Amino acid sequence: MSDDTVTPMMAQYLEIKAQNPGAILFYRMGDFYEMFFDDAALAAEALDIALTKRGKHRGEDIAMCGVPIHAAEGYLLTLIRKGFRVAIAEQMEDPAEAKKRGSKSVVRREVVRLVTPGTLTEDTLLEARRHNYLCAFAEIRDEAALAWADISTGELSVTACPLPRLMPELARLAPRELLVADEWELDWIEEVGCALTPLSRASFDSASAEKRLCALFGVGTLESFGNFTRAELSAMGALVDYLDLTQRGKLPLLRPPVREMAGGTVQIDAATRRNLEITQALAGGREGSLLSAVDRTVTAPGARLLERRLSSPTRDVGLIHERLGAVRWLTEEPRLREEMRASLRRVPDMDRALSRLALDRAGPRDMAAIRAGLTQAHEIAHRMPAEAPALVTRALEALGGHEALVDLLDQALVAEPPLLARDGGFIAQGFDADLDETRRLRDEGRGVIASMQAGFIELTGIQSLKIKHNNVLGYFIEVTSTHAEKMLSAPLSERFIHRQTTAGQVRFTTVELSELETRILNAGNRALDLEKMHFAALRTAILDLSGQIGRAARALAELDLIAAFADLAVAEDWTEPEIDDSRAFAIEAGRHPVVERALRRTGTPFVANHCDLSTGETPAVWLITGPNMAGKSTFLRQNALIALLAQAGSFVPARRAHIGLVSQIFSRVGASDDLARGRSTFMVEMVETAAILNQADDRALVILDEIGRGTATWDGLSIAWATLEHLHDRNRCRALFATHYHEMTALAGKLGGVENATVAVKEWEGDVIFLHEVRRGAADRSYGVQVARLAGLPASVIERARTVLDALESGERESGGRRQALIDDLPLFRAAPPPPAPAAPRTSPVEERLREIQPDDLSPREALKLLYDLRALL
Ligand code: ADP
Repeated sequence: MSDDTVTPMMAQYLEIKAQNPGAILFYRMGDFYEMFFDDAALAAEALDIALTKRGKHRGEDIAMCGVPIHAAEGYLLTLIRKGFRVAIAEQMEDPAEAKKRGSKSVVRREVVRLVTPGTLTEDTLLEARRHNYLCAFAEIRDEAALAWADISTGELSVTACPLPRLMPELARLAPRELLVADEWELDWIEEVGCALTPLSRASFDSASAEKRLCALFGVGTLESFGNFTRAELSAMGALVDYLDLTQRGKLPLLRPPVREMAGGTVQIDAATRRNLEITQALAGGREGSLLSAVDRTVTAPGARLLERRLSSPTRDVGLIHERLGAVRWLTEEPRLREEMRASLRRVPDMDRALSRLALDRAGPRDMAAIRAGLTQAHEIAHRMPAEAPALVTRALEALGGHEALVDLLDQALVAEPPLLARDGGFIAQGFDADLDETRRLRDEGRGVIASMQAGFIELTGIQSLKIKHNNVLGYFIEVTSTHAEKMLSAPLSERFIHRQTTAGQVRFTTVELSELETRILNAGNRALDLEKMHFAALRTAILDLSGQIGRAARALAELDLIAAFADLAVAEDWTEPEIDDSRAFAIEAGRHPVVERALRRTGTPFVANHCDLSTGETPAVWLITGPNMAGKSTFLRQNALIALLAQAGSFVPARRAHIGLVSQIFSRVGASDDLARGRSTFMVEMVETAAILNQADDRALVILDEIGRGTATWDGLSIAWATLEHLHDRNRCRALFATHYHEMTALAGKLGGVENATVAVKEWEGDVIFLHEVRRGAADRSYGVQVARLAGLPASVIERARTVLDALESGERESGGRRQALIDDLPLFRAAPPPPAPAAPRTSPVEERLREIQPDDLSPREALKLLYDLRALL
């Protein structure tokens, strides 16, 4: 073979590869998916598997690696997590078929699916308690829209989304993959934190989008679902086009699109989500987030609903009241709640099972999941009293009416079916007589033979007659030579067909025996075929009712969330918030749900605090001063979280809470507190603050923690000062503002809506004791030196610091009313520079620690931790 000959198989491989650019090709060969060339090198490294060679292509060795079919999902998961896409090319015919066409013929192969992060459906590839959103962003002239779908659950939504809203929306939805038109500049969008997939302009064409959507939902016009803008159609159309491309024509079960109105949910931007650690802790991961602290749901769909509610709390007062009413009812009905939760615990993820069934990627266990889910739905619907809050009643109504399907599945499926349909064994005994008989033949072949043998003995009267089996003859009847003559003459010879005579034995067969033999041999295959036929019929039966089943699944998720909120409220002693259209914000004895939980583990009680922004004045700002570590940040965040929880339909960690509807929540932390993001620049802090000042409306709740800290004292103070004035005068919102600039407390006298508050500390034998108690009024001093002592700064340094502080303080007194003049005399930018810094101590603990470090030995994670440790030493 010359060097540039391309084998037929390689030619096929290269053709398929060229049709699927940008994806690693899993090329099915028998029991393996093989990868070649660059794909092999990439995959071998990403999967940590051996890279080998297979033949030559144009004189070069062909790099190859492979994964066995039965373990493919695990490898697929790793590749997807590492940001690859995978095209799966299956064998589309039996290799024997290909052989018939000629010795050079290769088995026909086709890509059956393109696996991408946003289009996963397998449980092993998905996180049970999280959505897996695929988003598409479209712009048409001056309109823009964002559409999102979770094909594992069938959800499809769309909203108008001008470009500046894109990032906050992406932060809210946390998609796995974003589709954009390929003429886009992609660099600026890098922060999205998900896979970006550029699609051709044609995918975004709004006219074909409409056609695609009508075809998908089997309607003549989309108008019955709402009036969509061109941009919205374009975004949804791109989603559907991409699903068609990746699922190769098998479209998932999407529900009709839900149009989300801008202004329907509380606006929370990306920085605020991070700071408040709503669904993810700053350290990354769910642990330590609000979500993980409040999640008491017992089903995966319930957990996903909770995540959705916390990510997008509503601004509909009526809806909040309805949800809170349902939670209250279940807090008052402990027995019902427990029964409901016990049933819910047995409810599997019907949404995802349904989606796999629709894509023909399901196994018998998915059918069992539908059976179990509907059975429990029925249980719950029956157990609940007729008198219940409207939300609960509506949910209960969606649960019933599945008896016929449940009966069918009960009869058809075994109790615990296997994961895959491939090997059969999932259809129950008694469902199909033919199948039962077939299986009996397969399993009890011997027994059937034995009874046939008994029949022949009776017929022939030859007691020593045996039915035997060997590889040459298969099954045969054997008698000793002494009976040969009887067997070979009429009437027995009419029935028994002579096969072989050996020394001492004569062998026969009969029509029944050879039929039986074929049946035994075929029984295994036939049983499988019958099971597959039933599988297909059951699948159709389920999919015919998919709309109803989906409604029951959503109702169960809603009930799970209501019961989980009720359980949380009772266990944690939370209270029902009063929500209305006022501007009130009165929290009595509020707590921080995450900090309280963390403290509980150490046995420390959490000090509850009041916050009252309902001064009668709008705007209303609390300016909070107090030393570091006093609890300012905790207090700020707990109030924002209480508002968020309330509008998500939950009770809140407080004795009483009265909240006038919040439209937006903003939270910012001064630059140096924002190390976790690795870009602790003053610029970022300012950009983010600017966003608040430009966007906050008079229903916003703003919390600002040490804004201005990222720069020199006087600059910082000036900026903080001007920011607070702007919030008060222009934004006119409710705000909590923590600062260590004592000078700012003077603002309370100047601006009607500003009040001072401080976190109390006690001084005892030169140490500070943090009381974590928020009181009205300004902090009298900063206690910085005492805090430094607590942190373990050497005694000599503390001593020296005290001296310097005394000198500075007396110096300030001597300059008389200068500070007051300064405050009255804004702007501050021309104010005198700060006094020169005292001589630095020789080595601080921070420096000592820094000296010990070998930067090259640190992983990024260790480096981050180190930064936190260092900061703790300050
Ligand atoms: P600051 O923002 O004033 O520096 P933090 O809010 O970060 O202070 O609080 C410092 C620590 O004090 C927290 O990690 C927590 O352990 C504890 N703490 C804060 N608030 C309370 C409280 N209300 N009750 C009990 N401990 C608290």
